[in-house]
Amino acid sequence: MTTPTVVGIDLGTTNSLAAYMRDGRPVVVRDDTGVSLVPSCLSFHPDGTVLVGTAARERALADPEHTIFSVKRLMGRTLADLEPELKHIPHQIVEREAEAGRKVLRVRVGGREYTPEELSAMILREVRQRAGNPTKAVITVPAYFDDAQRQATRDAGRIAGLDVLRIVNEPTAAALAYGLDRNKSGTVAVYDLGGGTFDCSILQLADGVFKVLSTNGDTQLGGDDFDHLLMATAAKEMGLTPAGDPQLLQHLRDAAEKAKIALSAADTAVMQIGDRVHTVTRGEFEALIAPLIDRSLDKCKKALRDADLTPKDVGEVVLVGGSTRIPYVRRRVGEFFGRTPHTELNPDEVVAIGAAVQADILTSGRRDRLLLDVIPLSLGVETLGGAMDRIIERNTTVPCTGTTRYSTHKDNQTAILVNIYQGEREVVAANKLLGQFKLSGIPPMPAGFPIVLITFRVDANGMLKVTAKEERSGVEAAVEVKAAHGLSQDEVERLVLESVEHAHEDFTARRLIEFRRKGEANLEHMRKGLAQQGDKLTAEQRTTIDTAAANLTAAMAGNDVETLDRADKAFAAATLPLAQFVMDAAAKGYLGGKTEGDLDSDAM
Ligand code: AMP
Repeated sequence: MTTPTVVGIDLGTTNSLAAYMRDGRPVVVRDDTGVSLVPSCLSFHPDGTVLVGTAARERALADPEHTIFSVKRLMGRTLADLEPELKHIPHQIVEREAEAGRKVLRVRVGGREYTPEELSAMILREVRQRAGNPTKAVITVPAYFDDAQRQATRDAGRIAGLDVLRIVNEPTAAALAYGLDRNKSGTVAVYDLGGGTFDCSILQLADGVFKVLSTNGDTQLGGDDFDHLLMATAAKEMGLTPAGDPQLLQHLRDAAEKAKIALSAADTAVMQIGDRVHTVTRGEFEALIAPLIDRSLDKCKKALRDADLTPKDVGEVVLVGGSTRIPYVRRRVGEFFGRTPHTELNPDEVVAIGAAVQADILTSGRRDRLLLDVIPLSLGVETLGGAMDRIIERNTTVPCTGTTRYSTHKDNQTAILVNIYQGEREVVAANKLLGQFKLSGIPPMPAGFPIVLITFRVDANGMLKVTAKEERSGVEAAVEVKAAHGLSQDEVERLVLESVEHAHEDFTARRLIEFRRKGEANLEHMRKGLAQQGDKLTAEQRTTIDTAAANLTAAMAGNDVETLDRADKAFAAATLPLAQFVMDAAAKGYLGGKTEGDLDSDAM
């Protein structure tokens, strides 16, 4: 078997798996026995070994304390986020303070603590290994995953040694697996009923790009609930009381799941525990789960309502998740939408296959199929001197956010102008201006003191909201602009190509801008420092500073980056004693006239 270099991975709550493309056809990664699913389950041993997958799941009963399930529910969440479902999570979860007051969850197991990212990475590593250790992957997440959850998934991939090319929505992947992007336009409903969760997503396809119009679901509805219902009736019928008997409970659970699966193909199934036997018919099973299927269809109704649609508007229905193998589920979903759902692909594998299709599109450079759910061109702001500071890079999957820290470059500057640009070029003049706003009301402070955080937030529909906040005073301003729209694929490609062609010249232009800007600020600081503390310098120190300043000024008038770099370094060395005196006297306050100016990057 040739081993793939890039795979699509469905990192699921219950199971995970990988697929890849070979000669234009999807191949699902399987073990020697033909099994593709890797249970998303980990088992920690006292000797430090960690079992992953089936081996771990088999230890669940014997060693529940050291077995971890459903890590996906913890990804990118805080304890407060999890509060409503905490009672369903059997693991010991703690929250720790990380840098910048950020809180991170950790799972305690076997005397150690692990982040959800680390645990997911162990599952990803197993999936990756089975696929022959590819280096690149597309990983799928539920459509409702927010930024933090997507970022956590990306980080898990990175920890597992994968270059994560893209995070793709699971319903989008399912639609891709069926090639529905070739329809060019239309509405797709994805009904995803797995072991523990249910999701319904309504996608709109326009010009080959999928947009998630709405999602709805229930994080506590799935095949496990069908098992529980069967267990309860069977236990009653057989006169068993499993409460408080984990062993018996597990046997019942296994028997129930087997019976449920058998009923997808047969009219009756038998559950046997010891010498006790219970027979269940398909009709009885359907009556048992009907209220739960009603509940799932209610969620579909809500999703449609949120998208301003009715079932009639849906052109294609895709089924995802092991529980959609149940004939009754297929029938009910078909009736609800008034059309036969797609079931040709294995519902457990369809998301991984879609991820593989997406990975293939991204790496083979195929032009016939389009990029999905992404920012086509980078978004950023203009910094002093006309340089483009990218805050969100192109090809980032939406929704997404990015934040960068800036400050002022003049003393007592009370306002800054934020110019928002889109494009790949290093100088804003070559990019497209999307919008502009002013953050005013900054209290007078010395240059460099205000902390201005500029945040870009792009929602699932490509709407960009930019906020600027001065942290010390709390003053804030925001603007909403339409980003990412109105560009054809050709236009995007042309702009990206242009940025590559101009890469060298742009890079030099940007460095020149940055050196000049930094030079101006440094000369200004020097002048101020000399006025305040100049008398403390020796004559020799003063001469060194004057020479360095003259060299810097001359270099700034020229166009040579190397000369500027040298002059900048020499100036920094020469002004060191002065900086020391200024810092020593720094307690003095400032008062003066108000000024306003542009952004000053804090990074320099
Ligand atoms: P998933 O989370 O998508 O892997 O789905 C797992 C769920 O699908 C579990 O509850 C399984 O018991 C269930 N499942 C798998 N195969 C079948 C089948 N043939 N009939 C009914 N349920 C199934």
